[in-house]
Amino acid sequence: MPISIMSIPVLQDNYVWVLHDTTGEKTAVIDPGDAAPVRQFLDAAGWSLDLILVTHHHHDHVNGVADLHSHYGAQVVAPAAEASQIGRIDIPVHDGDRVPFGGEEILTIATPGHTAGEVSYYLPHPAALFCGDTLFSLGCGRLFEGSPKDMFHSLARFRELPDETLVCCGHEYTESNARFALTVAPENHSLRLRAEEVRKLRQQGKPTVPSTLRSERLCNPFIRADSAEQLGQLRALKDRF
Ligand SMILES: [Zn+2]
Repeated sequence: MPISIMSIPVLQDNYVWVLHDTTGEKTAVIDPGDAAPVRQFLDAAGWSLDLILVTHHHHDHVNGVADLHSHYGAQVVAPAAEASQIGRIDIPVHDGDRVPFGGEEILTIATPGHTAGEVSYYLPHPAALFCGDTLFSLGCGRLFEGSPKDMFHSLARFRELPDETLVCCGHEYTESNARFALTVAPENHSLRLRAEEVRKLRQQGKPTVPSTLRSERLCNPFIRADSAEQLGQLRALKDRF
């Protein structure tokens, strides 16, 4: 594979995702909530930084952007709809926009719900979805600025993507998401297996993501919800969990 995908744990439970194109020696990061660990990672690898992709305006996703932009001169790609909150953007993106990287085109998918202007980014080869705080493994983002209907439609956008797509989300929330998911779907055998796998991974201090869209379609009650109403009920239960 010409593009490899890595993650850097930052802050309390955030992940900064790293894309590296080995052929063209290009590197991109997604949602750098902190600059120092990203710089350390890039220094250790001997890489520069070409592209910074941002899914939404929350501080734990953008706090490292200004530093990384000025240090490496990397271009900032971010949702046009959140330009006033994010600040400097070189390439403002809308739904359907494609951003060239490493001989591939990264597709922008508008996924409002967690914030009003949030976007997700889809890399076709290898298939990977950078979904910020929209979809988590076994969960979905809190509805700070959008409605259950917004989130339902956003998650539905991922239906067109292949099963093997890696789900590269913004947080390590899987263990607590699993505990909640088991309360609403205790009979789901795939979920029980996944919850056990997650428990073991966390016990060993290992990340539980990326997962795959196949796994989320089998196990995640939010992406499995049949209607906006059902998703809204699940989200309200989870908020009080
Ligand atoms: Zn957020």
